Amino acid sequence: MTDKQHTDLSTYVRTLADMLGLKDAVVEISRDEPEREDCAANVRGVPGRKFWSVSFGPRFWEMTADDKRETIVHELLHCHMDPALDHVRTDLYENRIVGHQQYVLIYDAMLRTFEVGIDGIAHAIACHFPLPEWGEDGTK
Ligand SMILES: [Zn+2]
Repeated sequence: MTDKQHTDLSTYVRTLADMLGLKDAVVEISRDEPEREDCAANVRGVPGRKFWSVSFGPRFWEMTADDKRETIVHELLHCHMDPALDHVRTDLYENRIVGHQQYVLIYDAMLRTFEVGIDGIAHAIACHFPLPEWGEDGTK
């Protein structure tokens, strides 16, 4: 990611984050690529804090402007849902309310459910957000 892409992306993500009710959250753009190669983007949060870091892979830069917008809306919606996963890990597993097997089962089921729900919501609402102003190759 070039410095210009990082700046453009940071500005754009901040705009969408504000529009999605995340004005009080820090959303940084990571220069690291997502852990999984098949992911266009990935978001990671800090448990108990309104701080998220979004990573973008090479696939993201090959997407259309519409798909880039929907991908970013998708990642930002995760910021609203991730605290529920933290609840399962911290309150249920680390406090030994459930064992490891139950924890993995609950966590994975919630993760899959969130992915499907977030995909649907992002697809439905992305058209209400501005498109990125940079071109397919990251230039204006
Ligand atoms: Zn997702």
